[in-house]
Amino acid sequence: MKCPVCRATYRVTDSIEQTKPCHRCGADLAPLIQLHDRAIAHHRQAIAQFTAGDLPAAIVANDLAIALHTQNSAFHAFAGQLFALTGKFDEAVRSWQFAQKLDPKNMLVSNYLEIFESR
Ligand SMILES: [Zn+2]
Repeated sequence: MKCPVCRATYRVTDSIEQTKPCHRCGADLAPLIQLHDRAIAHHRQAIAQFTAGDLPAAIVANDLAIALHTQNSAFHAFAGQLFALTGKFDEAVRSWQFAQKLDPKNMLVSNYLEIFESR
């Protein structure tokens, strides 16, 4: 992740107590990391709900994850899968394109785009 103040890259530690201020500008990054953790929790919940067959709940949970952390490729990749499963293929392709922009090396997203963009 990047510091929102100075754009320095920082590592996310396992516990919030270990979170140090930005090494470059000294900004307190704890609130941001808490937000990031909540986003990850929503995304995990979305995957669990998807696995349990509750697609609408999975979509809501994953949308919450995206609302809290818009720059995560995995969240958008999963949103694309959920759109595709509900027949919303244009939205699926848009989500995957955004995911690919965030992470050009994501092979799963590249494969999906190859299949669906050539429809
Ligand atoms: Zn900084």
